[in-house]
Amino acid sequence: LIQLSVPLNFIGFIYREIRQGLTDIEHMFDLLSVKQEVDDKPDAKPLAIGAGNVEFRDVHFSYDPNRKILKGVSFEVPAGKTVAIVGPSGAGKSTISRLLFRFYDVQSGEVLIDGQDVRDVTQESLRSAIGMVPQDTVLFNDTVAYNIRYGRMDASQDEVRRAAELAQIGPFIERLPEGYATMVGERGLKLSGGEKQRVAIARTILKAPPILILDEATSALDSHTEQEIQAALDLVSKDRTTIVIAHRLSTVISADEIIVLKDGQIAERGTHADLLRQNGLYASMWDRQREATEAEERLRIARETD
Ligand code: ADP
Ligand code: MG
Repeated sequence: LIQLSVPLNFIGFIYREIRQGLTDIEHMFDLLSVKQEVDDKPDAKPLAIGAGNVEFRDVHFSYDPNRKILKGVSFEVPAGKTVAIVGPSGAGKSTISRLLFRFYDVQSGEVLIDGQDVRDVTQESLRSAIGMVPQDTVLFNDTVAYNIRYGRMDASQDEVRRAAELAQIGPFIERLPEGYATMVGERGLKLSGGEKQRVAIARTILKAPPILILDEATSALDSHTEQEIQAALDLVSKDRTTIVIAHRLSTVISADEIIVLKDGQIAERGTHADLLRQNGLYASMWDRQREATEAEERLRIARETD
């Protein structure tokens, strides 16, 4: 009996040590995930961009170890195609764009571009391959021309002008007091949300990246401005690998695949028609938005006839 109890105690001791070791490792990961910036690996190579295929493979991610944000997300955006990500606010949609940019590292799984893990390539090459039109564009305290040219510093005046026209903001800029030389930003002329977004689109047109992320602003825009912006966005995303994050479903109808994200997991996926047929979350979001749009339209007509 004594002979047996000693080894058992010893095993218990080892077990507690291992457990202690494990908690320390977990704690270490907590510290790592708090650290915001990521570093290039010593042997990081520039991204060898091919056709621009994007893949998320069983991605798990949390900002804060007590709260999982993405719980096993897998999808592929074939080169040149458009995948839309929709879902309730807080679902983790913008997080997906931050992981593609590698602002953070995944806790497990992989984010791949043309088969290369984003953790293995230089951040500079990664970020130059991706164009992002964010939810909130912050402009530099500089001229309109500079703010557009930032997409590609060696662009000519003509190229800047053409990009602005494609982004449906050319005529607006021409009417400014000093045209393209007008100072904008915090200390210059304040532009509206829709105008700033079109400057960001012009910048992205100029950058002409193989991969695009459009994280749409919504509430700030009226539906007329939204339609103008949509035309500009359709132009930039043509033949480019595109991830559209959308709150307004009208902008995702033509996507090659729509992913419905809910609580960090893919709840539904398919084309617009597939998802309406499934009659689930997407279909109910669609009905709700259509009612809201119709109410907005009735209100507008009522105001106009007053
Ligand atoms: P969505 O774009 O779908 O509205 P996000 O991906 O922006 O959602 O955010 C998903 C969740 O992660 C939200 O609950 C949000 O509060 C949280 N979150 C976003 N950014 C951070 C951060 N930097 N630190 C901690 N939590 C964050
Ligand atoms: Mg978001």
